[in-house]
Parts: sequence; C-alpha cells; structure tokens
Amino acid sequence: MMAADILAKFQSTGEQTCFHNRHINPQICAGLNGDNWKIKDYEERGGYQALRQVLGQDGSAGMSPEQVILCVKESSLRGRGGAGFPTGLKWSFMPKQYLGQKYLICNSDEGEPGTCKDRDILQFNPHIVIEGMLIAAYAMGITVGYNYIHGEIFGTYIRFEEALSQAREAGFLGKNILGSGFSFDLFAFHGFGAYICGEETALLESMEGKKGQPRFKPPFPANFGLYGKPTTINNTETFAAVPWIIRHGAQAYLDCGKPNSGGTKIFSVTGDVELPGNYEVPMGLPFAQLLELAGGVRTGRKLKAVIPGGSSSPVLPAHIMMDCTLDYDAIAKAGSMLGSGAVIVMDDSRCMVKSLQRLSYFYMHESCGQCTPCREGSGWLYRVVDRIENGKGRDSDMDLLNSVAANIQGRTICAMGDAAALPVRSMLQHFTPEFEYHIAHKTCMVATYV
Ligand code: SF4
Repeated sequence: MMAADILAKFQSTGEQTCFHNRHINPQICAGLNGDNWKIKDYEERGGYQALRQVLGQDGSAGMSPEQVILCVKESSLRGRGGAGFPTGLKWSFMPKQYLGQKYLICNSDEGEPGTCKDRDILQFNPHIVIEGMLIAAYAMGITVGYNYIHGEIFGTYIRFEEALSQAREAGFLGKNILGSGFSFDLFAFHGFGAYICGEETALLESMEGKKGQPRFKPPFPANFGLYGKPTTINNTETFAAVPWIIRHGAQAYLDCGKPNSGGTKIFSVTGDVELPGNYEVPMGLPFAQLLELAGGVRTGRKLKAVIPGGSSSPVLPAHIMMDCTLDYDAIAKAGSMLGSGAVIVMDDSRCMVKSLQRLSYFYMHESCGQCTPCREGSGWLYRVVDRIENGKGRDSDMDLLNSVAANIQGRTICAMGDAAALPVRSMLQHFTPEFEYHIAHKTCMVATYV
C-alpha cells in the first residue's frame, strides 16, 4: 500500500487513537480515543478475552502453558524494549521444575532519549499490559509480578495503580482467577528515574533497594533474578502484544509484519517532523511511509539524518534511511538498530557536532560509574566533542574520538558502554566533513549554508 493510500484510509475512517496520531493495522492502539482506558472500555474492545481463552473460561478447552509459549514463539514476537530478543524463547528459559517463588517483571523504565511509547500504552491502554502479563505468568507458572514504572512519570504510575484496582475488583488478579485455579497478583513499582535502571539487572538491584547498577552476567535473571529467584523481564509493549497474538493466532501476527519481525511496532517519531508522536505500524513498513504519516520533514527543510532506534543506535544519513524498511533485519543491514523504535528525525539545519555533543553529555551523565571504560571513556568523548563544538578542536581529535569509542565498545559490564560509543563512531563515519570543518575553521559548517 502506498503512503498516499494509507493517508486516504485514515481520512476515510476518521479513526481516533490514543496518541492523536495515525496508525496502520493497530493491535495495541485499536479503538482508543485517549479517554477510554478503564476496564469496562477495555472489555468492550474484547479485552480479557485472550485470558479467558487461555484459562478455558470462554467455553473452550483452554491452552496449556506449553501451548501458550509455543504460540508466542511461532508469532515471532521480539522484545520491544531494544534488544529484540525472541519473547517465546525467553519465556521457555524459565525453569519449569523450580518450586519456590518466581517473578514476572514488566520493564516500564522507559528512559531512552526519543522513546515515549510505553508511557502512552500505560496511560491509555493499561489493561492490555495487565492481560499480557497475566497470560505470561500463566505460561511460566508465576504467581507474583511487578511493573517497574519510570520515576519521572508519576501520573502514569497512578493511572496504572487505578487499572490494577479495577482488574483486582473484577476478579482478574488475585487467587483462583475466574475460578480457574490460576493465581497471580501484580503490583506497580515506582522507579527512581535513572536511565540505567532500564537495564534489566540494574532494575532488579533497584527493586531490591540497592544502587541501580547492572550485574555481571551470567547468571541471567531466568535463574538468578529478583531476590535471587528465577525472573522473567519483558518490556511494556512486548506484554501489550500478547493478547492480540492469543486471540488471532501466531500466523496472523506473523503475517502482519515480516518473517523474523512479526506484528506491529509503535514508533516514537520525534525531531524535525510536522506531526511528532507515536505511530503503530506493521513491521517492515518503508521508513519513507512512516515519515509521510508523521507529516514529513518540517516545512522548507530536507531530511539529513535519522537515528532509527533511540539515541544509543547509530545514526544513518538520509539516502540510506529512505531506502530502509522498519524491521530488525533491514535496519541492522543498513548499519544501525531498530532498538526501542524511537525514530529521531534530523533536517538539514542540524549540526552533527552539536547533536553529538548533546548525546555524549547524556551518556557521560548517566554512566553508573561501575566500570572504567564507560565511566572514564564517556567523559573523554564528551570533552573532546565539546571542544570541537566550541572551536577548540585539534587535528588529532577525530582519531582520538574513534580510539576512545573503540576502547569502550565491547569492554563493559552492560550495553551502555556500546550506547555511548556507537553514536560517536557513526557520526564520524557518515558526517566526516562536518567534524573536519569544525576543527579547521573553528565554526559550524551548517551555519554557513542554512
Ligand atoms: Fe555502569 Fe556504564 Fe559499566 Fe553499564 S557500562 S555497568 S552503565 S559503567
């Protein structure tokens, strides 16, 4: 379908969505109008039917835990938090024979610059996350869950608490849910606001009341998670995808996207576009069509570059991005990552040195300080980029930046080291003349032609 056809489809249906933006084949945002988040609204949209189906409380024979995991595996659902790990496979890692307490955690500690989808899911469709977690808990034999919600969105935390109360009152949480014998309770956990707490083992440390710093791995959370117990952690959007998969089947979900990248994905489009916002579209949609849905590059400007998966993913220049589709494999082949789906659009008025200065400051500030390459290296990166931006760059600075970034990448406890290094290396790779100009002329090249 061409972008013009897609736009015509929306104009003809007048579809309202949670984010006041347009969506294609929505699975998570279907039928939302920004105000219909309560349990009665959710049930009117078919909510909690997937749970009834799994538990055999809809007149059907129900599904065994193994059948649920197989269905999620076959759907090709991959983790929507950034890593893209296959969800069904992750669920199968939970030790079946373990008799002690096991935990299920939703990672709603959304802090990646450019990403703003999970807070909208929790704000406008919280029950879809609760239902997804209930199904996951049933599949893995877990009785207790937590939703770790980013510390800076207190209103969303309150909203989720309200949704939990509604679900409990309706009998969807607690003991012997819907008379099925299955018990599960779920609690909201107010996070502490640090970016690194989105890393799953730092999140566990934070929940245990300790400093939010990533753990060495192995052991992985499936064996040694919260309080040392087996734990499965998935992203908010990942759980939100599960009820649709159960109701419509793995094949229908897979068919909606591309092989190896099933279903829809919510992209947070920010930066230099006319209509920034969250867009739920099928995996594999050409980037050019997403850009058109977002109103295109702001008036009078040309596309210069895109950071396709949140600030920790490598930047891609316009000519590469415009030929790219939005799925894990295509973006990896183009040299970047789908990540959390935060698409940061930059037009031709943007200085890449200035942009990198801003990004480098963020990673220096958010480093937890636990390992030397990240703690010291992120500061080096920022200071070198900062002096280039401020007209004090040296001829050797580009080599120095590449060397420092290379010595961080792959040498740290968690992926944040790579997150600090990759934007630097990609900016230098694709926008070399801008850095050279800054160093040679002590001023910005972009300012001379904009
Ligand atoms: Fe902390 Fe950075 Fe090391 Fe991760 S890579 S553990 S954020 S110092």
